[in-house]
Amino acid sequence: MTRTPIIAGNWKMNLLREDVSAYAEALADAGPPGAQVDVVLFPTPVYLELAAAAMPDWAAVGAQDVHAEDGGAYTGDVAAAQILDAGASWALAGHSERRQYHGESNDDVARKARRALDTGLIPVICVGETLEQRQRDETEAILDAQLGAALEVLAAADGAGIGAVVAYEPVWAIGTGLSASPEIAAAVHGHLRRRLNRHQAGLGDSTRILYGGSVNADNCRDLIGRSDIDGFLIGGASLDPASFLRIIRLSTGSAGGS
Ligand code: PEP
Repeated sequence: MTRTPIIAGNWKMNLLREDVSAYAEALADAGPPGAQVDVVLFPTPVYLELAAAAMPDWAAVGAQDVHAEDGGAYTGDVAAAQILDAGASWALAGHSERRQYHGESNDDVARKARRALDTGLIPVICVGETLEQRQRDETEAILDAQLGAALEVLAAADGAGIGAVVAYEPVWAIGTGLSASPEIAAAVHGHLRRRLNRHQAGLGDSTRILYGGSVNADNCRDLIGRSDIDGFLIGGASLDPASFLRIIRLSTGSAGGS
């Protein structure tokens, strides 16, 4: 089955207004990638509207988080309808920094993803084990629990023709410069795909599974060379548009970018 790759940049709590505008200009100047690829950028909520308006039409914008309720007394949070209204079309759910610093449980993440999907956003469900969990040989059990809570929403996304997306981001590889090897990442992606297929025949084959964790221009080609790796969620190396464009070009073999 052919799955369109996704190259996504998670800016986290970085960049200011002028950086967002300059970034969009750099992408527009580079022109569209000469290959089938979904390009998505995840700015802070303050700049969602700006980014969505400024980006060239081949680069989508998404939110780094989304609330599970459709509105109400949730100070500081952002509703899926507001994200959509700002011009964004994607939303992350369960990034490890949300799980770690905001205590999000697997059920919280599934509810967020469900709200995003029901509102018309494409949810990207993030999963990943810590170093301690890997060392205790608990990786598959942890991932099964994280993915397990979200299976229904992934199946619903697939059924709705939106296409389910999972991001495998080992916590020990995020922001550390220690990317998972292609072998380790591919083994986990294969495991996730089999788990999805067990839940619903074909779901694992159609779901796009991204790798995230210290992806850069030096390691992206080896990682995406693995058939189970459908693209990347990139933090640090997405902050500079030249670096992000280079990763798009190297990962897709396209002529666009610098
Ligand atoms: C991330 O935060 O999603 C991420 C993968 O970060 P980095 O690429 O910096 O490791």
